[in-house]
Amino acid sequence: MPVTVVGSIAFDSVRTPFGERERMLGGAAVHFALAASFFDEVHVVGPVGDDFGEAELDVLRRRNIDTSGIERVADGKTFFWRAEYGWDLNNRETLETALGVFERFEPTLSAKARASDVVFLANIQPDLQRRVRAQCLDTRFAALDTMNLWIDTARPSLVKAINEVDCVIINDAELRQLADRPSLVGAAREVLSWSTTPGRAVVAKLGEYGAALITRDGYFSIPAFPLETVVDPTGAGDSFAGGFIGYVAAQRHKHLTPTLLRRAMAYGTAIASFNVEEFGTDRVARLRMDEVDERVTDLRRMTAFA
Ligand code: AMP
Repeated sequence: MPVTVVGSIAFDSVRTPFGERERMLGGAAVHFALAASFFDEVHVVGPVGDDFGEAELDVLRRRNIDTSGIERVADGKTFFWRAEYGWDLNNRETLETALGVFERFEPTLSAKARASDVVFLANIQPDLQRRVRAQCLDTRFAALDTMNLWIDTARPSLVKAINEVDCVIINDAELRQLADRPSLVGAAREVLSWSTTPGRAVVAKLGEYGAALITRDGYFSIPAFPLETVVDPTGAGDSFAGGFIGYVAAQRHKHLTPTLLRRAMAYGTAIASFNVEEFGTDRVARLRMDEVDERVTDLRRMTAFA
């Protein structure tokens, strides 16, 4: 089933203990789309400025991602983000965020993007997420990501946006903040209790400790793939989401069973682990599906329990 993603398309400047890069291709929608492209047709929607070139678009096109929903704003500047990581790669400091063309972004989806069965609302202002969700009337599965900024500044809209999707994918600390509950499972169940729609799920991203899937009556967690070297964690959450949701989309119209969601978690985990091995999109841009499958097999072996 086709997937539409709406979110940031960015230039990222990142410093980690292993080096630094200036103005790499990044953004939540880009990391998500590259990961999801292993499974199904992907439509990316978001704005860029006239500083965004063909070389950047080619990274997406080479993975057969539909870039016709990327809106180029004349005289505008592409979203820019600068961050630094210390030895604890689970913590980063954002040094600069320049919204650029995102400041006036009003998403209008093409008929093709609107018709997708699966929609991912990457981390953007929740009212924008809601306006996108409202355009996708045929969607069978919608998910969103968010961040502390929106919990602090737009909470009522964010709660409404959450209640309009099937799945929330969020960092553990932000989940606790959102629900105002100290326990991860308690916080997830609190968020699930805000809507009575059946089959909803919360995925808590736990950084180098993996991810947990919480439903009203179920729990599953998977460790991150054990890597000895992590070069740049940027985009790990979005490539996890892309792998997870891409796998769900590729199951076509099958019922979303707990087993299927667990497998989706393994695919998200595997792709995220490749993402962090190199700066920016470098590793995932040349990743092959057989490498992903091999890592999923390794994860299955590592987590098997008699
Ligand atoms: P992640 O590491 O998965 O949290 O995603 C990092 C990506 O999110 C980077 O490529 C950034 O360009 C993008 N990003 C950072 N801050 C924001 C923001 N406030 N809104 C949208 N995207 C952002």
